[in-house]
Amino acid sequence: MSQSKGQSEEMIIECLKCGIVMEPGKVEVMYMNSKFPIQLPKCHKCGMVYIPEELAIGKMLEVEKALEDK
Ligand SMILES: [Zn+2]
Repeated sequence: MSQSKGQSEEMIIECLKCGIVMEPGKVEVMYMNSKFPIQLPKCHKCGMVYIPEELAIGKMLEVEKALEDK
């Protein structure tokens, strides 16, 4: 079963520092004293990670939920 949400527009995010395109990379985020590995755009030059505002504000709950669901 594939979950298609209909909104799959690809975003190209550039690192503000380096001006190069960030590529998806595995990033560990902390939530409720637990680490969750997720994919986020990451600058391979300076290591900066782009965290979408929606993730920073409320999507963490969904990340947790998705992991529990498995
Ligand atoms: Zn950079």
